[in-house]
Amino acid sequence: MTDEQPTPDMSDKPVRHILAISGGKDSSALAVYMRGKVENMEYVFCDTGEELEETYEYISKLQDYLCTEITTLKSERDFRYYVDLYNGVLPDARTRWCTRMLKLKPYENYIGDDPVISYVGIRADEPHRTGYISTKPNIKAVFPFVEDNIRYDDVMRMLKDAGLGLPRYYDWRSRSGCYFCFYQQKIEWVGLKENHPYLFKKARAFEKFDPETGDRYTWNQGESLDELVKPERVARIREEYEKRKLREANAFKGNQKLKDVWGGDDDEELSCNICHL
Ligand code: SF4
Repeated sequence: MTDEQPTPDMSDKPVRHILAISGGKDSSALAVYMRGKVENMEYVFCDTGEELEETYEYISKLQDYLCTEITTLKSERDFRYYVDLYNGVLPDARTRWCTRMLKLKPYENYIGDDPVISYVGIRADEPHRTGYISTKPNIKAVFPFVEDNIRYDDVMRMLKDAGLGLPRYYDWRSRSGCYFCFYQQKIEWVGLKENHPYLFKKARAFEKFDPETGDRYTWNQGESLDELVKPERVARIREEYEKRKLREANAFKGNQKLKDVWGGDDDEELSCNICHL
């Protein structure tokens, strides 16, 4: 993965070392793992302004653990501005303008033209993921977990030993990122409604229907959030989720891990790697 990227020109400016934290378990574990290993490591968090309170809480815990400031990076414009700019079209896995505008741009602006080594928390057991790879020639991404064969169990142990555990949202959600992230599973939308009804309402308010053209701008293809939370639909979503959990529990003979409960590797592939590490 790293071979394809040029090493930044380190001739006249000092190289900066930056670790971007998403508020998820892998990037947080990487911060724990790298602590004390690199002098002047800079920690940043690209805040979309649409994050969960559990994420802020976890970032703050991590900051205390690291005894170093985690710098918050934000776009000058908020999510609503971009929705209007794109005529109400919500981001999806294909366009993903949200990642570009609210995460990548602030990150690249922060870096400027400085030569940078960017530390990415992809694990050794996720060879299919690529993480944040900048097209800017002054940024080189490195993957310490891949290089040092750090896997899922190691990450979980590191977080436990550091006294951090997992972010609270893992009780009802599989990954970090915006509360309305279109990558989330149906059961997670149900979880959002139960755990953060106000945020669910906010997410719903972004959906639009054009009675003239019949166009529907929804987070999920073919189903609005109002349709998704109808009692009979919720019952079916729960039923499907329970069945899947059972299937996976049987497959793993009771040795269930977080990633198994939430859908395993196939599901992880359907995620945004700068937001969901
Ligand atoms: S978490 Fe999801 S919605 Fe938020 S910026 Fe990333 S891909 Fe977009």
